[in-house]
Amino acid sequence: MLRKPFTLRSVLIFLLAAFLALGLGACTTKNLPASKADYDVIVIGAGMGGLSAAAHLAVKGQKVLVLEKHHKVGGSTSNFRRGEFVFDTALHEMAGGGPGRLDRGLYQLIKLTGVDQKVEFYEVPHLYRSCFPGVDITLPTNWAGFKGALKKQWPEEAEGIETFHTLCRSVYGEMLELKDLFRYGGTRAKLTQIMVPLRQPNFFKWKDRTVRDLMDHCFKNEEIKAVVSQLWVYYGAPIEKQTALVMLAATETYLSDGAWHVKGTSQALSDGYAARIHELGGVVKTGTLVKKIVLENGRATGVATSDGQTYTARYVVANTDPYQLAYTLIGKENMPAAYLEKLEKMKPANSLFGVYLGLNVDLKAQGQEDSEILYNTSLDSRKNYDAMMKGDFRNGAAAITIYSNLGDSVYAPPGKSVVKLDAYSDISIWPKDPAAYARMKEQKVDELIALAANAIPALKDPKNIVFKEGYTPRTLERYTMNRGGVVYGFELTLDQWQKVPNTTPVENVFITSNWTQAWHGVGSCQLNGWRAARLILDREGIQ
Ligand SMILES: Cc1cc2nc3c(=O)[nH]c(=O)nc-3n(C[C@H](O)[C@H](O)[C@H](O)COP(=O)(O)OP(=O)(O)OC[C@H]3O[C@@H](n4cnc5c(N)ncnc54)[C@H](O)[C@@H]3O)c2cc1C
Repeated sequence: MLRKPFTLRSVLIFLLAAFLALGLGACTTKNLPASKADYDVIVIGAGMGGLSAAAHLAVKGQKVLVLEKHHKVGGSTSNFRRGEFVFDTALHEMAGGGPGRLDRGLYQLIKLTGVDQKVEFYEVPHLYRSCFPGVDITLPTNWAGFKGALKKQWPEEAEGIETFHTLCRSVYGEMLELKDLFRYGGTRAKLTQIMVPLRQPNFFKWKDRTVRDLMDHCFKNEEIKAVVSQLWVYYGAPIEKQTALVMLAATETYLSDGAWHVKGTSQALSDGYAARIHELGGVVKTGTLVKKIVLENGRATGVATSDGQTYTARYVVANTDPYQLAYTLIGKENMPAAYLEKLEKMKPANSLFGVYLGLNVDLKAQGQEDSEILYNTSLDSRKNYDAMMKGDFRNGAAAITIYSNLGDSVYAPPGKSVVKLDAYSDISIWPKDPAAYARMKEQKVDELIALAANAIPALKDPKNIVFKEGYTPRTLERYTMNRGGVVYGFELTLDQWQKVPNTTPVENVFITSNWTQAWHGVGSCQLNGWRAARLILDREGIQ
């Protein structure tokens, strides 16, 4: 998206050239792929990115085929049942995906597809309860409540709290002004970029700063800094490395647009997308692994699947990581060396380790009102991060989600509870040997439960736990095929927060996933899907 700052001279030259050429570079329709194909677009993978891309294409009349290797759609956005308990695979809370509030951003995109008619969203009761040594605070999901709770605990930080709010609002607003930049070609893109320091000054300033810089700018007290930056655990890097942009944008979205969940688990959102794609004449085929993108003269003509089928299409969208796309699906020999070098230089973020728990006690009845508890052993995010990545979960942090407190009866029967614990993890600490892996998993599951028991005392008594199942980076890698089981794509650091674009070196192949420009998360991956769809529609000259 954005590259370097620009000199005044280059700004003036561009301004002159650009006024003459403005608009000419946008939405090119040249080099359209040949139209004799089974489908207009084949989407590989039915995670949020793939489903969203397919729905946006289908609603504009494109004939789409979605191929998913798993027996159901959703990728990370899925669910599973164990006896009387239902578990949401991933989603804790989604930023800005629901109706009401400001009706902007993601929800407008969902409405464009018609998926809003198939899915019911509800707001989660609180944004999060944050526990640190000596601090325990629950923060509401709106600015007035959020600021009020912080000011009550740290009245001397009132000015900084207002500064933080103003920055979140202005930076996110400026990012929305740039939301179509990815569609602009040549001159128009360059002109938009060079105008950024003037038109989007807050975004321009904060794009080169970390969350730590942001906290130091707004606050003096280390406790409030830790509490306000708490959601670093959702974004995939300690605050010293993490770009401030993600914290500013996501906090504004959560507090102005709401934090949302899906009635019937996040699988209902995935199923809603699949149903809508069918309704629009598209095909969603599960249980189908794509092995190869077929190329002719440097262009994709379709895909080959593991069951020996070949499907042809004018465009291909991969809802995969860029490594599978480059090395396996397209093939290293067909990729420019520079693209591969860039991929290898960029650093993927962490994966996760966690535990799904079914309890025979009603946590709400015991006074546990929260649904999202973030438990930290240190105020220092770096210490928490390093401990988790080494596998020392007792000295890290845990995201504890009490799903049965969300007000949806799907999770557990009356009198029982469903809880999930998530911590950062690195695939390299998990042994490949099956017996050693099983031993370590069992031990780490108990360590993570012991950590979470500091926030939920009922977990101290094993008799309360009637079901427990751990997952590791290896589980996530197996299910999603993301390298290293990484769930955040590339680490959101200053030098790589732009991730990779939704275009690829193969002209009619696009990528949409955790690893691409609109970032990771259930909401952002839908945005990535829209972006990939939009690029294809622009080429086709479809508004
Ligand atoms: C435990 C956990 C908790 C999370 N919590 C939250 C949260 O609270 N809020 C939030 O916003 N986000 C959360 N996330 C992140 C969010 O779920 C992901 O960012 C998002 O769902 C990823 O979507 P994706 O488009 O990258 O696709 P993925 O979910 O990675 O799915 C990719 C799909 O493609 C399929 N596929 C891959 N290769 C092939 C192939 N060759 N052939 C056929 N199919 C293929 C896979 O089977 C998979 O179904 C969480 C993730 C995890 C794992």
